[in-house]
Amino acid sequence: TLKGKTAVITGSNSGIGLGVARELARAGADVVLNSFTDRDEDHALARALGEEFGVTARYIKADMSKGAECRALIEQAGVCDILVNNAGIQHVAPIDEFPQDKWDAIIAINMSSAFHTTAVALPLMRKAGWGRVINIASAHGLTASPYKSAYVTAKHGVVGMTKTVALECAREEITANAICPGYVLTPLVESQIPDTAKKYAMTEEEAKQKVILERQPSKEFATTEQIGGTAVFLCSDAAAQITGTTISVDGGWTAL
Ligand code: NAD
Repeated sequence: TLKGKTAVITGSNSGIGLGVARELARAGADVVLNSFTDRDEDHALARALGEEFGVTARYIKADMSKGAECRALIEQAGVCDILVNNAGIQHVAPIDEFPQDKWDAIIAINMSSAFHTTAVALPLMRKAGWGRVINIASAHGLTASPYKSAYVTAKHGVVGMTKTVALECAREEITANAICPGYVLTPLVESQIPDTAKKYAMTEEEAKQKVILERQPSKEFATTEQIGGTAVFLCSDAAAQITGTTISVDGGWTAL
């Protein structure tokens, strides 16, 4: 059980981040949800999650594209035993047409945010004598696809950062690992389906099966619960010697 531990999950008002927060809360952890908005529904989401699992759940607004806000998120949380760096965005374009502002945003949100949050969270973990850094990378942290230069660069960077953090904490009860999901049906992926269908003149169902899941041998999407369950495992005693590595949850994608 994770009772008494506090988890901060960046980008967790939807998709994988929310799924991870739910599984950590189910396992007894107090959770801090985050995104860049500050709506009533964001705070209500945290309240409902806290009630559902009988844990303390807070929502803290912070924009992960800004280093100072990443750092402020952890400072405001005050305690961070489990840090899940999950916030991420995508943009798809050939590299010679890739908008510079999209490149900068993806590098900032998908990669540099993890540097800033980890830098502030590690001293808190050291004070507590225990910690877990869990970076949500991607199959694209291990392999590439065309037209996703910024995303693939950022995710490979996160995998490298994970190894470095693991080595810097190797003699402490702090581990750092990356979960590498294949396709998970979240708003991030759902938003790519209509365009993909149009591009290939297919129905949306065909686009899902034939294009999006083309590289996923299981032909099934991974679920946010499965990513969350993997995070819970990484927090368990069984995983205490697992550090500086990646766990793929990708239906066989990276085995191809
Ligand atoms: P999503 O769009 O459902 O969720 C992204 C989350 O990040 C949201 O909560 C959003 O509010 C938040 N976010 C975006 N910009 C932010 C910012 N500037 N500051 C703070 N929060 C911000 O997407 P998802 O599919 O759940 O993706 C979550 C993570 O998982 C990303 O890092 C993504 O790269 C990774 N991932 C997703 C898949 C997939 O198939 N869905 C596969 C591999 C990796």
